[in-house]
Amino acid sequence: MEREVGVNNVKIAVVGGGLVGALNACFFAKRGFQVELYESREDIRRATVVKGRSINLALSHRGREALKAVGMEDKIVSKGIPMHARMIHSPSGKRSPIPYGKKGQYILSVDRANLNKELLSAAETYPSAKMNFEHKLVDWNLESGSMTFLRNDGSTKVTTCDLTVGCDGAFSAVRKRFMRQSRFNYSQTYIPHGYMELTIPPKHGDFAMEPNFLHIWPRNTFMMIALPNLDMTFTCTLFMPFEDFEKITTGDEVLDFFQRYFPDSIPLFGEEALKQDYFRLPAQAMVSVKCSPYHIGTTCVLMGDAAHAVVPFYGQGMNAGFEDCIVFDELLDQYNCDFSICLPEFTRLRVPDDHAIADLAMYNYIEMRAHVNSKWFLFRKHLDMILHYMMPNTIIPLYTMVTFTRTRYHKIVKRWQWQNKVINRGLFLCGVSSVLGGTYLLIKHPPCTPSIKLDRLWNWALSLK
Ligand SMILES: Cc1cc2nc3c(=O)[nH]c(=O)nc-3n(C[C@H](O)[C@H](O)[C@H](O)COP(=O)(O)OP(=O)(O)OC[C@H]3O[C@@H](n4cnc5c(N)ncnc54)[C@H](O)[C@@H]3O)c2cc1C
Repeated sequence: MEREVGVNNVKIAVVGGGLVGALNACFFAKRGFQVELYESREDIRRATVVKGRSINLALSHRGREALKAVGMEDKIVSKGIPMHARMIHSPSGKRSPIPYGKKGQYILSVDRANLNKELLSAAETYPSAKMNFEHKLVDWNLESGSMTFLRNDGSTKVTTCDLTVGCDGAFSAVRKRFMRQSRFNYSQTYIPHGYMELTIPPKHGDFAMEPNFLHIWPRNTFMMIALPNLDMTFTCTLFMPFEDFEKITTGDEVLDFFQRYFPDSIPLFGEEALKQDYFRLPAQAMVSVKCSPYHIGTTCVLMGDAAHAVVPFYGQGMNAGFEDCIVFDELLDQYNCDFSICLPEFTRLRVPDDHAIADLAMYNYIEMRAHVNSKWFLFRKHLDMILHYMMPNTIIPLYTMVTFTRTRYHKIVKRWQWQNKVINRGLFLCGVSSVLGGTYLLIKHPPCTPSIKLDRLWNWALSLK
Protein backbone atom coordinates (compact mmCIF):
# COMPACT_ATOMS: atom_id res chain seq x y z
CA MET A 1 0.00 0.00 0.00
CA GLU A 2 1.32 3.49 -0.79
CA ARG A 3 2.12 5.79 2.10
CA GLU A 4 0.68 9.30 1.88
CA VAL A 5 3.25 11.89 2.92
CA GLY A 6 2.45 14.74 0.54
CA VAL A 7 5.48 14.31 -1.69
CA ASN A 8 3.76 14.17 -5.07
CA ASN A 9 5.35 17.37 -6.32
CA VAL A 10 8.87 16.46 -5.33
CA LYS A 11 10.97 15.38 -8.31
CA ILE A 12 13.75 12.85 -7.75
CA ALA A 13 16.32 11.93 -10.40
CA VAL A 14 17.89 8.52 -9.86
CA VAL A 15 21.09 8.38 -11.92
CA GLY A 16 21.97 4.76 -12.77
CA GLY A 17 19.52 1.94 -13.38
CA GLY A 18 21.72 -0.88 -12.02
CA LEU A 19 20.70 -2.90 -8.98
CA VAL A 20 20.71 -0.07 -6.44
CA GLY A 21 19.24 2.58 -8.77
CA ALA A 22 16.36 0.32 -9.82
CA LEU A 23 15.59 -0.61 -6.21
CA ASN A 24 15.77 3.04 -5.15
CA ALA A 25 13.31 3.97 -7.90
CA CYS A 26 10.87 1.47 -6.31
CA PHE A 27 11.39 2.95 -2.83
CA PHE A 28 10.87 6.57 -3.96
CA ALA A 29 7.95 5.83 -6.28
CA LYS A 30 6.25 3.81 -3.54
CA ARG A 31 6.18 6.98 -1.45
CA GLY A 32 4.62 8.93 -4.30
CA PHE A 33 7.67 10.99 -5.33
CA GLN A 34 7.96 11.87 -9.03
CA VAL A 35 10.84 9.59 -10.04
CA GLU A 36 12.91 9.86 -13.21
CA LEU A 37 15.49 7.10 -13.62
CA TYR A 38 18.37 7.75 -16.04
CA GLU A 39 20.49 4.82 -17.24
CA SER A 40 23.34 5.13 -19.73
CA ARG A 41 22.93 1.60 -21.16
CA GLU A 42 20.02 0.33 -23.20
CA ASP A 43 17.12 -1.30 -21.35
CA ILE A 44 18.57 -4.69 -20.33
CA ARG A 45 15.11 -6.23 -20.60
CA ARG A 46 15.35 -5.77 -24.35
CA ALA A 47 19.12 -6.15 -24.78
CA THR A 48 20.39 -9.21 -26.62
CA VAL A 49 23.80 -9.10 -24.95
CA VAL A 50 24.03 -7.97 -21.32
CA LYS A 51 27.50 -6.63 -20.62
CA GLY A 52 28.65 -6.07 -17.09
CA ARG A 53 29.97 -7.64 -13.99
CA SER A 54 29.43 -11.01 -12.30
CA ILE A 55 26.72 -13.23 -13.75
CA ASN A 56 25.38 -14.21 -10.34
CA LEU A 57 25.56 -12.77 -6.84
CA ALA A 58 25.07 -13.89 -3.26
CA LEU A 59 21.98 -12.29 -1.77
CA SER A 60 21.72 -12.28 2.01
CA HIS A 61 19.68 -10.83 4.85
CA ARG A 62 20.28 -7.10 4.33
CA GLY A 63 19.44 -7.31 0.65
CA ARG A 64 16.39 -9.44 1.33
CA GLU A 65 15.07 -6.98 3.93
CA ALA A 66 15.28 -4.17 1.38
CA LEU A 67 13.53 -6.27 -1.26
CA LYS A 68 10.85 -7.17 1.29
CA ALA A 69 10.19 -3.49 1.95
CA VAL A 70 9.18 -3.00 -1.71
CA GLY A 71 7.31 -6.32 -1.93
CA MET A 72 9.94 -8.03 -4.12
CA GLU A 73 11.51 -10.54 -1.73
CA ASP A 74 9.41 -13.61 -2.55
CA LYS A 75 9.72 -13.11 -6.28
CA ILE A 76 13.51 -12.87 -6.15
CA VAL A 77 14.00 -15.61 -3.55
CA SER A 78 11.88 -18.04 -5.59
CA LYS A 79 14.45 -17.71 -8.39
CA GLY A 80 17.48 -18.02 -6.10
CA ILE A 81 19.44 -21.14 -5.17
CA PRO A 82 20.12 -21.56 -1.45
CA MET A 83 23.75 -22.13 -0.49
CA HIS A 84 23.97 -23.53 3.06
CA ALA A 85 27.74 -23.93 3.29
CA ARG A 86 31.08 -23.35 1.64
CA MET A 87 32.43 -26.49 -0.03
CA ILE A 88 36.22 -26.43 0.18
CA HIS A 89 38.02 -28.29 -2.63
CA SER A 90 41.54 -29.36 -1.62
CA PRO A 91 44.28 -29.77 -4.29
CA SER A 92 43.83 -33.56 -3.99
CA GLY A 93 40.14 -33.17 -4.86
CA LYS A 94 38.85 -33.79 -1.31
CA ARG A 95 35.69 -31.79 -0.57
CA SER A 96 34.84 -30.55 2.94
CA PRO A 97 31.79 -28.44 3.78
CA ILE A 98 31.95 -25.53 6.27
CA PRO A 99 28.40 -24.35 7.11
CA TYR A 100 27.62 -20.63 6.87
CA GLY A 101 25.65 -20.55 10.07
CA LYS A 102 23.09 -22.51 12.03
CA LYS A 103 20.77 -25.03 10.40
CA GLY A 104 18.34 -23.17 8.16
CA GLN A 105 20.69 -20.21 7.57
CA TYR A 106 21.80 -19.79 3.98
CA ILE A 107 22.72 -17.26 1.34
CA LEU A 108 21.12 -17.25 -2.12
CA SER A 109 22.75 -17.40 -5.52
CA VAL A 110 20.73 -15.03 -7.73
CA ASP A 111 21.05 -14.07 -11.37
CA ARG A 112 22.26 -10.45 -11.59
CA ALA A 113 20.55 -9.67 -14.90
CA ASN A 114 17.25 -11.18 -13.81
CA LEU A 115 17.33 -9.27 -10.52
CA ASN A 116 18.01 -6.02 -12.37
CA LYS A 117 15.20 -6.69 -14.87
CA GLU A 118 12.69 -7.55 -12.12
CA LEU A 119 13.54 -4.38 -10.19
CA LEU A 120 13.20 -2.18 -13.28
CA SER A 121 9.84 -3.77 -14.09
CA ALA A 122 8.71 -3.32 -10.48
CA ALA A 123 9.69 0.38 -10.57
CA GLU A 124 7.80 0.84 -13.81
CA THR A 125 4.54 -0.36 -12.25
CA TYR A 126 4.36 2.88 -10.22
CA PRO A 127 2.62 5.62 -12.21
CA SER A 128 4.98 8.25 -10.77
CA ALA A 129 8.13 6.51 -12.08
CA LYS A 130 9.58 7.11 -15.52
CA MET A 131 12.52 5.22 -17.03
CA ASN A 132 15.01 6.89 -19.39
CA PHE A 133 17.44 4.41 -20.95
CA GLU A 134 20.43 5.39 -23.10
CA HIS A 135 20.70 8.60 -21.08
CA LYS A 136 24.22 9.16 -19.82
CA LEU A 137 24.85 11.89 -17.28
CA VAL A 138 27.60 14.05 -18.75
CA ASP A 139 27.26 17.28 -16.85
CA TRP A 140 25.68 18.45 -13.64
CA ASN A 141 25.65 22.02 -12.46
CA LEU A 142 25.29 22.06 -8.72
CA GLU A 143 24.47 25.76 -8.50
CA SER A 144 21.64 25.76 -11.03
CA GLY A 145 20.73 22.10 -10.39
CA SER A 146 20.65 21.34 -14.11
CA MET A 147 21.77 17.91 -15.33
CA THR A 148 22.75 17.15 -18.91
CA PHE A 149 22.21 13.67 -20.31
CA LEU A 150 23.65 12.45 -23.58
CA ARG A 151 21.38 10.17 -25.59
CA ASN A 152 22.65 7.40 -27.89
CA ASP A 153 21.58 9.36 -30.97
CA GLY A 154 23.91 12.20 -29.93
CA SER A 155 21.14 14.53 -28.71
CA THR A 156 21.10 15.87 -25.15
CA LYS A 157 18.44 16.35 -22.51
CA VAL A 158 18.79 19.05 -19.86
CA THR A 159 16.63 18.74 -16.76
CA THR A 160 16.39 19.74 -13.11
CA CYS A 161 15.07 18.02 -10.00
CA ASP A 162 14.70 18.48 -6.25
CA LEU A 163 16.96 15.58 -5.30
CA THR A 164 19.62 13.77 -7.34
CA VAL A 165 20.39 10.25 -6.16
CA GLY A 166 23.71 9.05 -7.57
CA CYS A 167 23.50 5.27 -8.07
CA ASP A 168 25.81 5.20 -11.05
CA GLY A 169 28.34 2.71 -9.76
CA ALA A 170 32.00 2.63 -8.82
CA PHE A 171 33.03 5.19 -11.47
CA SER A 172 30.13 7.50 -10.69
CA ALA A 173 29.70 10.65 -12.77
CA VAL A 174 27.63 12.18 -9.96
CA ARG A 175 30.49 11.62 -7.50
CA LYS A 176 32.87 13.42 -9.86
CA ARG A 177 31.03 16.65 -9.03
CA PHE A 178 31.57 15.95 -5.33
CA MET A 179 35.32 15.89 -5.96
CA ARG A 180 35.31 19.64 -6.52
CA GLN A 181 33.56 20.15 -3.18
CA SER A 182 35.64 21.38 -0.25
CA ARG A 183 36.11 18.82 2.57
CA PHE A 184 35.06 15.88 0.43
CA ASN A 185 37.27 12.85 1.20
CA TYR A 186 37.90 10.22 -1.41
CA SER A 187 40.17 7.21 -1.81
CA GLN A 188 40.31 4.30 -4.22
CA THR A 189 42.41 1.15 -4.14
CA TYR A 190 42.84 -1.40 -6.91
CA ILE A 191 43.78 -4.78 -5.49
CA PRO A 192 46.53 -6.69 -7.34
CA HIS A 193 44.08 -9.47 -8.23
CA GLY A 194 41.77 -9.60 -11.22
CA TYR A 195 38.84 -11.92 -11.84
CA MET A 196 37.70 -14.06 -14.73
CA GLU A 197 34.42 -15.93 -15.11
CA LEU A 198 34.26 -19.49 -16.46
CA THR A 199 31.28 -21.82 -16.86
CA ILE A 200 30.78 -25.40 -15.68
CA PRO A 201 28.00 -26.86 -17.85
CA PRO A 202 25.33 -29.28 -16.56
CA LYS A 203 26.23 -32.98 -16.50
CA HIS A 204 23.63 -35.51 -17.71
CA GLY A 205 20.94 -32.84 -17.34
CA ASP A 206 21.86 -32.11 -13.71
CA PHE A 207 24.30 -29.95 -11.74
CA ALA A 208 27.86 -31.21 -12.18
CA MET A 209 28.54 -30.62 -8.43
CA GLU A 210 26.42 -30.34 -5.27
CA PRO A 211 24.24 -27.25 -6.02
CA ASN A 212 23.49 -25.94 -2.53
CA PHE A 213 27.04 -24.83 -1.77
CA LEU A 214 29.38 -22.02 -2.62
CA HIS A 215 32.34 -24.02 -3.91
CA ILE A 216 35.82 -22.69 -3.08
CA TRP A 217 39.23 -23.83 -4.29
CA PRO A 218 41.54 -21.85 -1.96
CA ARG A 219 45.17 -21.84 -3.10
CA ASN A 220 46.70 -19.20 -0.79
CA THR A 221 47.69 -16.48 -3.25
CA PHE A 222 44.72 -17.11 -5.55
CA MET A 223 41.42 -18.97 -5.53
CA MET A 224 38.46 -20.06 -7.59
CA ILE A 225 34.83 -20.03 -6.46
CA ALA A 226 31.65 -21.38 -8.08
CA LEU A 227 28.02 -20.35 -7.58
CA PRO A 228 25.09 -22.37 -8.99
CA ASN A 229 22.65 -21.02 -11.59
CA LEU A 230 19.03 -21.99 -12.27
CA ASP A 231 19.99 -23.48 -15.66
CA MET A 232 22.14 -26.02 -13.75
CA THR A 233 25.41 -24.41 -14.77
CA PHE A 234 27.94 -23.05 -12.29
CA THR A 235 29.60 -19.70 -12.78
CA CYS A 236 33.19 -20.07 -11.59
CA THR A 237 35.21 -16.98 -10.79
CA LEU A 238 38.98 -17.26 -10.80
CA PHE A 239 40.61 -14.56 -8.64
CA MET A 240 44.33 -14.27 -9.26
CA PRO A 241 47.09 -11.63 -9.44
CA PHE A 242 47.12 -10.00 -12.89
CA GLU A 243 50.74 -11.03 -13.41
CA ASP A 244 49.71 -14.71 -13.06
CA PHE A 245 46.86 -14.27 -15.54
CA GLU A 246 49.34 -12.75 -17.97
CA LYS A 247 51.70 -15.75 -17.70
CA ILE A 248 49.05 -18.05 -19.24
CA THR A 249 48.98 -17.40 -22.96
CA THR A 250 48.06 -20.71 -24.65
CA GLY A 251 45.36 -23.36 -24.29
CA ASP A 252 47.96 -25.91 -23.15
CA GLU A 253 49.19 -23.55 -20.45
CA VAL A 254 45.59 -23.19 -19.23
CA LEU A 255 45.32 -26.97 -18.93
CA ASP A 256 48.70 -27.26 -17.19
CA PHE A 257 47.67 -24.58 -14.71
CA PHE A 258 44.32 -26.21 -13.93
CA GLN A 259 45.94 -29.66 -13.78
CA ARG A 260 48.32 -28.35 -11.17
CA TYR A 261 45.92 -26.36 -8.98
CA PHE A 262 42.31 -27.37 -9.72
CA PRO A 263 42.60 -30.91 -11.18
CA ASP A 264 39.13 -31.97 -10.01
CA SER A 265 37.54 -29.11 -11.99
CA ILE A 266 38.90 -30.10 -15.44
CA PRO A 267 36.43 -32.92 -16.13
CA LEU A 268 33.64 -30.56 -15.00
CA PHE A 269 34.61 -27.83 -17.49
CA GLY A 270 35.72 -30.17 -20.25
CA GLU A 271 39.26 -29.66 -21.58
CA GLU A 272 38.39 -27.98 -24.88
CA ALA A 273 35.65 -25.78 -23.38
CA LEU A 274 38.02 -24.63 -20.62
CA LYS A 275 40.74 -23.69 -23.12
CA GLN A 276 38.26 -21.53 -25.04
CA ASP A 277 36.41 -20.07 -22.07
CA TYR A 278 39.66 -18.85 -20.50
CA PHE A 279 40.44 -16.57 -23.43
CA ARG A 280 36.86 -15.32 -23.96
CA LEU A 281 37.38 -12.12 -21.94
CA PRO A 282 40.43 -10.59 -20.25
CA ALA A 283 40.61 -10.59 -16.43
CA GLN A 284 38.70 -7.68 -14.87
CA ALA A 285 40.03 -5.33 -12.18
CA MET A 286 38.54 -4.87 -8.71
CA VAL A 287 38.43 -1.52 -6.95
CA SER A 288 37.56 -0.45 -3.43
CA VAL A 289 36.23 3.11 -3.11
CA LYS A 290 35.67 5.04 0.10
CA CYS A 291 34.37 8.58 0.32
CA SER A 292 32.68 10.96 2.70
CA PRO A 293 30.28 12.75 2.99
CA TYR A 294 27.63 11.03 0.87
CA HIS A 295 25.57 14.17 0.36
CA ILE A 296 25.76 17.77 -0.79
CA GLY A 297 23.35 20.17 0.92
CA THR A 298 19.76 19.11 0.48
CA THR A 299 19.95 18.25 -3.20
CA CYS A 300 22.22 15.27 -3.80
CA VAL A 301 23.08 11.94 -2.22
CA LEU A 302 25.23 8.96 -3.28
CA MET A 303 24.25 5.33 -2.72
CA GLY A 304 25.48 1.86 -3.67
CA ASP A 305 28.85 1.48 -5.39
CA ALA A 306 28.86 5.21 -6.21
CA ALA A 307 29.32 5.80 -2.47
CA HIS A 308 31.24 2.65 -1.53
CA ALA A 309 32.52 0.11 -4.03
CA VAL A 310 33.88 -2.85 -2.07
CA VAL A 311 35.88 -5.88 -3.23
CA PRO A 312 33.50 -8.83 -3.73
CA PHE A 313 34.93 -11.24 -1.13
CA TYR A 314 32.22 -10.81 1.51
CA GLY A 315 29.38 -10.93 -1.00
CA GLN A 316 28.13 -7.67 0.51
CA GLY A 317 28.50 -4.96 -2.18
CA MET A 318 24.96 -5.19 -3.47
CA ASN A 319 23.60 -6.13 -0.04
CA ALA A 320 25.16 -3.00 1.48
CA GLY A 321 23.84 -0.92 -1.44
CA PHE A 322 20.34 -2.31 -0.89
CA GLU A 323 20.70 -1.54 2.80
CA ASP A 324 21.51 2.09 1.86
CA CYS A 325 18.06 2.29 0.25
CA ILE A 326 16.27 0.89 3.29
CA VAL A 327 18.21 3.13 5.71
CA PHE A 328 17.34 6.22 3.63
CA ASP A 329 13.70 5.10 3.53
CA GLU A 330 13.69 4.71 7.32
CA LEU A 331 15.11 8.24 7.63
CA LEU A 332 12.38 9.62 5.34
CA ASP A 333 9.84 8.05 7.71
CA GLN A 334 11.58 9.32 10.79
CA TYR A 335 12.03 12.92 9.57
CA ASN A 336 8.88 13.24 7.50
CA CYS A 337 10.80 13.45 4.21
CA ASP A 338 12.72 16.56 5.28
CA PHE A 339 15.85 16.29 3.07
CA SER A 340 17.68 18.91 5.16
CA ILE A 341 17.76 16.36 8.00
CA CYS A 342 17.66 13.05 6.09
CA LEU A 343 20.73 13.71 3.92
CA PRO A 344 23.22 14.59 6.69
CA GLU A 345 21.76 11.82 8.85
CA PHE A 346 22.30 9.36 6.01
CA THR A 347 25.97 10.35 5.81
CA ARG A 348 26.33 10.16 9.59
CA LEU A 349 24.83 6.67 9.74
CA ARG A 350 26.17 5.06 6.58
CA VAL A 351 29.76 6.28 6.24
CA PRO A 352 31.14 4.34 9.24
CA ASP A 353 29.17 1.24 8.26
CA ASP A 354 30.18 1.24 4.61
CA HIS A 355 33.81 1.89 5.47
CA ALA A 356 33.66 -1.03 7.91
CA ILE A 357 32.28 -3.44 5.28
CA ALA A 358 34.94 -2.25 2.82
CA ASP A 359 37.60 -3.23 5.38
CA LEU A 360 35.88 -6.53 6.19
CA ALA A 361 35.72 -7.38 2.49
CA MET A 362 39.47 -6.79 2.20
CA TYR A 363 39.99 -9.02 5.25
CA ASN A 364 37.84 -11.79 3.74
CA TYR A 365 39.96 -11.57 0.58
CA ILE A 366 42.76 -13.20 2.61
CA GLU A 367 40.48 -15.44 4.68
CA MET A 368 38.87 -17.09 1.63
CA ARG A 369 42.00 -17.82 -0.35
CA ALA A 370 44.44 -18.57 2.50
CA HIS A 371 43.02 -18.91 6.03
CA VAL A 372 40.51 -21.63 5.09
CA ASN A 373 43.53 -23.89 4.45
CA SER A 374 44.72 -23.51 8.05
CA LYS A 375 43.84 -26.04 10.78
CA TRP A 376 43.80 -23.26 13.39
CA PHE A 377 41.24 -21.31 11.32
CA LEU A 378 39.02 -24.37 10.98
CA PHE A 379 39.33 -25.08 14.71
CA ARG A 380 38.35 -21.45 15.50
CA LYS A 381 35.37 -21.62 13.10
CA HIS A 382 34.10 -24.75 14.86
CA LEU A 383 34.78 -23.31 18.29
CA ASP A 384 32.92 -20.09 17.40
CA MET A 385 29.93 -22.14 16.24
CA ILE A 386 29.93 -24.25 19.45
CA LEU A 387 30.19 -21.14 21.64
CA HIS A 388 27.45 -19.47 19.61
CA TYR A 389 25.26 -22.54 20.15
CA MET A 390 25.92 -22.44 23.91
CA MET A 391 25.69 -18.62 24.29
CA PRO A 392 23.71 -17.39 21.26
CA ASN A 393 23.50 -13.79 22.47
CA THR A 394 27.09 -13.43 23.68
CA ILE A 395 29.25 -15.05 21.00
CA ILE A 396 28.09 -14.55 17.41
CA PRO A 397 30.43 -15.55 14.57
CA LEU A 398 31.57 -12.65 12.38
CA TYR A 399 30.08 -14.15 9.21
CA THR A 400 26.71 -14.65 10.94
CA MET A 401 26.56 -11.01 12.06
CA VAL A 402 27.50 -9.68 8.62
CA THR A 403 25.33 -12.00 6.57
CA PHE A 404 22.33 -12.95 8.66
CA THR A 405 21.61 -9.80 10.67
CA ARG A 406 21.19 -6.07 10.12
CA THR A 407 23.59 -5.21 12.94
CA ARG A 408 25.48 -2.12 11.83
CA TYR A 409 28.74 -3.11 10.12
CA HIS A 410 30.94 -0.88 12.26
CA LYS A 411 29.40 -2.29 15.45
CA ILE A 412 30.07 -5.79 14.14
CA VAL A 413 33.77 -5.01 13.79
CA LYS A 414 33.95 -3.74 17.38
CA ARG A 415 32.06 -6.74 18.71
CA TRP A 416 34.19 -9.18 16.71
CA GLN A 417 37.38 -7.67 18.13
CA TRP A 418 35.94 -7.99 21.65
CA GLN A 419 34.85 -11.61 21.07
CA ASN A 420 38.26 -12.54 19.68
CA LYS A 421 39.93 -11.08 22.75
CA VAL A 422 37.65 -13.03 25.10
CA ILE A 423 37.97 -16.33 23.18
CA ASN A 424 41.74 -16.09 22.78
CA ARG A 425 42.15 -15.30 26.49
CA GLY A 426 39.86 -18.22 27.32
CA LEU A 427 41.95 -20.54 25.13
CA PHE A 428 45.17 -19.27 26.73
CA LEU A 429 43.79 -19.86 30.22
CA CYS A 430 42.63 -23.38 29.23
CA GLY A 431 46.13 -24.12 27.88
CA VAL A 432 47.89 -22.79 30.98
CA SER A 433 45.55 -24.66 33.37
CA SER A 434 46.01 -27.96 31.48
CA VAL A 435 49.80 -27.64 31.65
CA LEU A 436 49.70 -26.73 35.36
CA GLY A 437 47.13 -29.48 36.11
CA GLY A 438 49.19 -32.08 34.19
CA THR A 439 52.41 -31.07 35.96
CA TYR A 440 50.67 -31.20 39.34
CA LEU A 441 49.33 -34.70 38.62
CA LEU A 442 52.76 -35.91 37.46
CA ILE A 443 54.37 -34.61 40.65
CA LYS A 444 51.60 -35.93 42.90
CA HIS A 445 51.34 -39.34 41.21
CA PRO A 446 54.68 -39.98 39.50
CA PRO A 447 54.44 -42.82 37.00
CA CYS A 448 55.88 -46.22 38.01
CA THR A 449 59.33 -47.19 36.73
CA PRO A 450 59.45 -46.18 33.12
CA SER A 451 58.87 -49.15 30.87
CA ILE A 452 61.31 -47.74 28.31
CA LYS A 453 64.89 -48.24 29.32
CA LEU A 454 67.21 -45.25 29.16
CA ASP A 455 69.65 -46.86 26.69
CA ARG A 456 66.74 -47.64 24.32
CA LEU A 457 65.51 -44.03 24.62
CA TRP A 458 69.02 -42.78 23.82
CA ASN A 459 69.25 -45.05 20.75
CA TRP A 460 65.83 -43.82 19.57
CA ALA A 461 66.92 -40.20 19.95
CA LEU A 462 70.10 -40.93 17.96
CA SER A 463 68.09 -42.57 15.19
CA LEU A 464 65.89 -39.47 14.98
CA LYS A 465 68.99 -37.34 14.61
C1 LIG B 1 32.92 -10.21 -9.48
C2 LIG B 1 31.94 -9.54 -8.57
C3 LIG B 1 31.14 -10.32 -7.75
C4 LIG B 1 30.23 -9.72 -6.89
N1 LIG B 1 29.49 -10.52 -6.07
C5 LIG B 1 28.64 -9.95 -5.19
C6 LIG B 1 27.86 -10.76 -4.32
O1 LIG B 1 27.93 -11.99 -4.36
N2 LIG B 1 27.00 -10.14 -3.45
C7 LIG B 1 26.91 -8.79 -3.38
O2 LIG B 1 26.14 -8.29 -2.55
N3 LIG B 1 27.64 -7.99 -4.20
C8 LIG B 1 28.49 -8.53 -5.09
N4 LIG B 1 29.22 -7.74 -5.93
C9 LIG B 1 29.08 -6.26 -5.83
C10 LIG B 1 27.90 -5.79 -6.65
O3 LIG B 1 28.06 -6.19 -7.98
C11 LIG B 1 27.79 -4.27 -6.59
O4 LIG B 1 27.90 -3.83 -5.27
C12 LIG B 1 26.47 -3.80 -7.17
O5 LIG B 1 26.39 -4.11 -8.52
C13 LIG B 1 26.32 -2.28 -6.97
O6 LIG B 1 25.16 -1.86 -7.61
P1 LIG B 1 25.03 -0.35 -8.09
O7 LIG B 1 23.67 -0.23 -8.67
O8 LIG B 1 25.44 0.57 -7.01
O9 LIG B 1 26.14 -0.17 -9.22
P2 LIG B 1 26.18 -0.86 -10.65
O10 LIG B 1 25.66 -2.24 -10.58
O11 LIG B 1 27.55 -0.63 -11.17
O12 LIG B 1 25.16 0.01 -11.53
C14 LIG B 1 25.46 1.32 -11.90
C15 LIG B 1 24.60 1.68 -13.10
O13 LIG B 1 24.80 3.05 -13.43
C16 LIG B 1 24.91 3.17 -14.83
N5 LIG B 1 25.72 4.38 -15.11
C17 LIG B 1 27.05 4.52 -14.95
N6 LIG B 1 27.42 5.78 -15.29
C18 LIG B 1 26.29 6.43 -15.66
C19 LIG B 1 26.03 7.74 -16.13
N7 LIG B 1 27.00 8.65 -16.28
N8 LIG B 1 24.75 8.10 -16.42
C20 LIG B 1 23.75 7.19 -16.29
N9 LIG B 1 23.93 5.92 -15.85
C21 LIG B 1 25.19 5.55 -15.55
C22 LIG B 1 25.59 1.88 -15.28
O14 LIG B 1 25.34 1.61 -16.64
C23 LIG B 1 24.94 0.87 -14.34
O15 LIG B 1 23.78 0.31 -14.88
C24 LIG B 1 30.13 -8.30 -6.83
C25 LIG B 1 30.92 -7.51 -7.66
C26 LIG B 1 31.82 -8.12 -8.53
C27 LIG B 1 32.68 -7.26 -9.39
